[in-house]
Order: sequence, then structure tokens, then C-alpha cells
Amino acid sequence: MAWRGYAVTYRWRPYVARGLLRVVEASRCERYVLCYEEGEFFVLRRAAGTAVCEEAVRGGFAAASSAWVWLTRACCLICGPGG
Ligand SMILES: [Zn+2]
Repeated sequence: MAWRGYAVTYRWRPYVARGLLRVVEASRCERYVLCYEEGEFFVLRRAAGTAVCEEAVRGGFAAASSAWVWLTRACCLICGPGG
């Protein structure tokens, strides 16, 4: 099976708060944050240098956490030491 790298893409949409936001886990650079809110998990990302937040993969823990792992691996290989 060929390793396809980080070609996975997600549909991002503007984050709109629906309740109490809890951070489950954040990437080293804190760009990607796995969040829990009102019974749903999702990935939150912040565009560099801005306060704008977008969310993706809202739903169950399995889908959101695996997406978070993919995104943080891809990001922090580049952005931070030890990724
Ligand atoms: Zn990163």
C-alpha cells in the first residue's frame, strides 16, 4: 500500500460557538486544537497571525481525533522541532 502523505483535506467552515468550548488537545504550535462542545468533537484551527478560527470534522471523537492527528503531524513536521 503506497504512502500517500498528507493529501487528506477537510472542509473548513467559520467557527461559531454553540456552547462551552473545551480543549481536548492542542498541537505543539497550538494551531490545531481538538475541541469538545455540546456533545460533539471537532478540530479548530486558527489562521496564523489572526484571531479567525475555523472548524472541521464536527461529530464523534474517532473522526475528529484522527483528523486532528493527521493535521498536527503534517503541520508540526514543518512548524516545530520534534513534531
Ligand atoms: Zn504545528
